[in-house]
Amino acid sequence: MLGIDIGGTNTVFGFVQKNGKVIEDFSIPTKAKKPAKELMVRVREIADHFLLENSEKYFLNGIGIGAPNASYYTGLIENPPNLKWGTVNLVKIAGKCFNKPVKITNDANASALGEMLFGAAKGMKNFIAITLGTGLGSGIVVDGKLHYGANGFAGELGHVCIDFRGRHCGCGKRGCLECYVSAPGVVRTAIELSAKRVSETRIREIPTEELSAKKITDLAKKGDAVALETFDYTAHLLGVSLANVAMTVGPEAFIICGGLAKAGDLLLKKTKEYMESHLIDNFKNQIKILPSGVGNGNSAVIGAAALAWTEFSNA
Ligand SMILES: [Zn+2]
Repeated sequence: MLGIDIGGTNTVFGFVQKNGKVIEDFSIPTKAKKPAKELMVRVREIADHFLLENSEKYFLNGIGIGAPNASYYTGLIENPPNLKWGTVNLVKIAGKCFNKPVKITNDANASALGEMLFGAAKGMKNFIAITLGTGLGSGIVVDGKLHYGANGFAGELGHVCIDFRGRHCGCGKRGCLECYVSAPGVVRTAIELSAKRVSETRIREIPTEELSAKKITDLAKKGDAVALETFDYTAHLLGVSLANVAMTVGPEAFIICGGLAKAGDLLLKKTKEYMESHLIDNFKNQIKILPSGVGNGNSAVIGAAALAWTEFSNA
């Protein structure tokens, strides 16, 4: 199956076998301002090239897609804040483009599936996958099943408000968690803090447009005070939010996936401390925060393919 993970910045896709093994994967810029069809055509060109070269070894059965604001029920992607597509039927578009069966789900749900079948959540029945990239997504698994909710969109933790006078979000609201806890959120925090603090920081020397979460991570690892404070602030907001969700849903673990998760202990250890300090006693010291257990942090690609394997296994 071809698993496609559409992000606000990059689209990652790969050919995945039934056991979760990724045969080959690719990453291309999403070009979020161009139409969805254009992206599908670019994915197909690369996929076709690979399939042609390996035609005696592999056969493509179907396609699973993880995308922001995607509905498993309708196949629609509805006004994703980080893509300028409006509402499109991606199942139809991809189906026409590839001439193969297509199933779609929210990108965070795809990550949750990937982690449950092949990754850090193997054997767990109640957990929440958090994807940290251009935005913040969450896939909630309850009693071994993805929780879609009445409208199919459950799990929008990224747009839970943490400050109603806070930063403006791509969704049109203010103070959404993903304005702070995401790659662009980390950059915004670093810029704000480097303007406020008197301490020496390399962040001030980097032009704003060249600043990235990766650069801030590297600086924090070298002990840059403002970069460290940026991660402390980010971890605090994430920790409080995970505590709120934990007390509502009761998961055994949070699995942290996506680009920003590569910050590792810098983010996860502090997030765990802050989460614990905001939990009431009967939730304390039980809930794990784990990094993605899927190779290359590719849980959304593997999960999207896993969705396709579950849906089209008789293909
Ligand atoms: Zn929002």
